[in-house]
Amino acid sequence: MMRLPGFRYRAPRTIADAAAWLAEDPATSMVLAGGTDLLPNMKRRQQTPATVIGLRGIGGFAEMHNGDGLAIGAGVTLANLTADPRIRRHYPGLWQAAAQIATPHLRNMGTIGGNLCLDTRCTYYDQNYEWRKSIDFCLKRDGATCWVATSSPKCLAVSSTDTAPMLQALGASITLMSTSGQRVVPVADLFANDGMHYLTKRPDEILTTIGLPASDGWRSSYWKLRRRGAFDFPVAAAAVAARLDGETIVDLRIVLGAVASRPLEAERAATLLMGQQLTDDAIAAAAAAASEVAKPMDNTDFELVWRKKMVRSLVESALREVRGDDMRARRHQLARQELLSVAGTHA
Ligand SMILES: Cc1cc2nc3c(=O)[nH]c(=O)nc-3n(C[C@H](O)[C@H](O)[C@H](O)COP(=O)(O)OP(=O)(O)OC[C@H]3O[C@@H](n4cnc5c(N)ncnc54)[C@H](O)[C@@H]3O)c2cc1C
Ligand code: SF4
Repeated sequence: MMRLPGFRYRAPRTIADAAAWLAEDPATSMVLAGGTDLLPNMKRRQQTPATVIGLRGIGGFAEMHNGDGLAIGAGVTLANLTADPRIRRHYPGLWQAAAQIATPHLRNMGTIGGNLCLDTRCTYYDQNYEWRKSIDFCLKRDGATCWVATSSPKCLAVSSTDTAPMLQALGASITLMSTSGQRVVPVADLFANDGMHYLTKRPDEILTTIGLPASDGWRSSYWKLRRRGAFDFPVAAAAVAARLDGETIVDLRIVLGAVASRPLEAERAATLLMGQQLTDDAIAAAAAAASEVAKPMDNTDFELVWRKKMVRSLVESALREVRGDDMRARRHQLARQELLSVAGTHA
């Protein structure tokens, strides 16, 4: 059994206290929301903060409010997010992304804020301490070499958050709070394409709110490839948000998940569809362009060539769903493909 290392636990009641305590020593402190990512990482000695600041007791941290769009407290659990009719009705892609995260138990604890700040993942890193020690560790923690690409000066671990690509596609923003005040930045600007330094926020900043723009006229869809349909991290994903005037696309964002150290926007693919109708040919061309952006590495589940190939199919499915196609049969087919992959045969 893996045990947690020793640490000091602090339980603020206000966000101001949390920010002040974090500011005392941001380099050795971490905040804890649901703990479904941080606690396993601490047990594996991947992250070993001396001080853990629990956010669950902070008043108002887990609330949702209507405004111009929807303000979601960073402490809202994934279970509460998916149970909220506003999400299912107005932001279906976000509902699909959150509902496919982990298991019901983990969604009861895991929060949307924790999901956005989720650590990047890699086959050589998501192992216990002894396993990692046996390969002399790696660049991301305690070592000097990246075992995925030994000449790489930077870590290539994979962004594995399901909600981040969808929130980026929806044009969401986040509010970051510290003792120096608060700032609002687009979700797209929270991430860097670096497996070690994957967040641009400062270590003393706490994510307090996710702001969703008004959903008027927008449609959205999220498709994810994973090994087990019951629960698993994404190994490729496509998030699409589109605004249509009649049948013509007037706004579109396509964001790929789990194919780099950050969610990747497929801008050229979106440009191809602007002012166009979502015909089968237009969708196929955009999906092909989107898959060019994906640069999966050999550091997560499934063969990387197949993952890249599947990006095209995921984008195509998301665009067809946004067009209004009934995609239930395709979702079942995807689950079957995943099952066949477990057996070692790609459908
Ligand atoms: C078996 C298993 C399967 C999983 N499957 C998936 C999956 O399919 N898809 C997926 O996306 N995730 C998956 N997860 C990961 C995790 O459960 C979710 O990402 C969850 O949303 C994390 O939220 P949390 O509140 O538990 O985060 P925590 O573990 O509390 O925190 C995660 C990170 O975010 C930071 N953090 C948390 N809240 C804040 C904040 N408000 N401000 C600043 N930093 C913050 C923490 O310091 C930590 O670095 C899985 C986990 C397990 C154990
Ligand atoms: S990508 Fe390289 S440095 Fe990063 S976790 Fe994997 S092996 Fe380590």
